[in-house]
Amino acid sequence: MTQAVQRLTILGATGSIGASTLDVVARHPERFRVEALTAHRDSARLFELCLNHRPAYAVMADPAAARDLAQRIQGAGLDTRVLSGPAGLIEVASLPRVDTVMAAIVGAAGLLPTLAAVRTGKRILLANKEALVMAGGLFMAEVAEHQALLLPIDSEHNAVFQCLPTGPHAEGLPARGIDRILLTASGGPFRCCDIETLHTVTPDAACAHPNWSMGRKISVDSATLMNKGLEVIEACWLFDIAPERVDVVVHPQSVIHSLVGYSDGSVLAELGNPDMRTPIAHALAWPERIRSGVGPLDLVSIARLDFEAVDKQRFPCLELAYQAMQAGGAATAILNAANEIAVAAFLDRRMRFTDIPGVIEDTLSALAPGDAEDLDHILEWDARARQSAQRSVDARHRRTQA
Ligand code: NAD
Ligand code: MG
Repeated sequence: MTQAVQRLTILGATGSIGASTLDVVARHPERFRVEALTAHRDSARLFELCLNHRPAYAVMADPAAARDLAQRIQGAGLDTRVLSGPAGLIEVASLPRVDTVMAAIVGAAGLLPTLAAVRTGKRILLANKEALVMAGGLFMAEVAEHQALLLPIDSEHNAVFQCLPTGPHAEGLPARGIDRILLTASGGPFRCCDIETLHTVTPDAACAHPNWSMGRKISVDSATLMNKGLEVIEACWLFDIAPERVDVVVHPQSVIHSLVGYSDGSVLAELGNPDMRTPIAHALAWPERIRSGVGPLDLVSIARLDFEAVDKQRFPCLELAYQAMQAGGAATAILNAANEIAVAAFLDRRMRFTDIPGVIEDTLSALAPGDAEDLDHILEWDARARQSAQRSVDARHRRTQA
């Protein structure tokens, strides 16, 4: 049987997930066709990707970068159409001829284009976890209304998805005998360091993840364990489960990607080498299986799998995320915005690594949140949280300068 060609938009094509996606796609030219690629500012890199993948559209979120890309495209005689800004991202996320959208923009900037893909009922490969943390209730309602197919790319959620009896959208996990979801966390680069030295760590040290190679924002999130907090929230929305039923266990080898516990005592896990091409290939081809380029798991050379409890004193961000999810309403949108501001300030060396949870706490307590009824509301909370978090960053910066 000949396979229909799957037409793709890749939002965030120049990032780490974008690169892994294009790697998998290039292994199956008979199966996938790249219709659109997007990036923020790096026009030189997006131009290279256009030369290799010949998309019909390329979008730069930044207008000056879009002008630069358009010149390069014209100079090379490619017939790729260049668009720019948030409107361009939304346009290529909702192109009628596109079947599948990889949502791999980092942070809140991914929300609107990903929602645009949802609203056109496409297959959504969701890497952009921040979209669900900001607007999970609304996002999942739109997925149901427009019958989009939402497949998780985050390795933990992709593992959970694979361990569920059927897809993620069937009613009620308890009715299907599921007691809990257990997310694994590597513990990041600072799992074992002397806790007294944490305030001196540099951005490069925080981004040197022991098992995964990722963008800088998610690498810092992994070092604070806020990434796991965002993933707890992501799991609650994706799988319609209460935060009390989502646990986290530290597993430094990152071989078990997550587990599902059933009422009869069975626990199912998904294992593999820590390489994002596995969940990407899984979601691209689901319910079929395709080669991803990831080598076989060699359990004998891995030899052991270790587990430990999360050290809450070392990693206060995880608890902040649980609290925000329990508080509900706009609290998780505020948590996400404050975290983005705090991580950016740490990466810019304006404050210390150990200031990150403080900025988030300051912001959550400054903004006693109300409901998050609609998108405008959520975007308003996001903007207010960013301003409030920036004030907390500035105060900390002044203190370190004094
Ligand atoms: P990255 O920093 O490597 O890439 C981010 C991409 O988003 C780039 O293409 C960049 O140009 C684009 N981008 C950034 N800001 C933008 C803006 N304002 N407007 C438009 N585009 C913008 O990040 P990444 O590691 O590939 O992560 C992408 C997403 O996937 C994040 O939400 C992350 O949490 C999630 N994720 C990543 C991994 C991983 O292994 N890298 C694993 C699980 C989930
Ligand atoms: Mg993950």
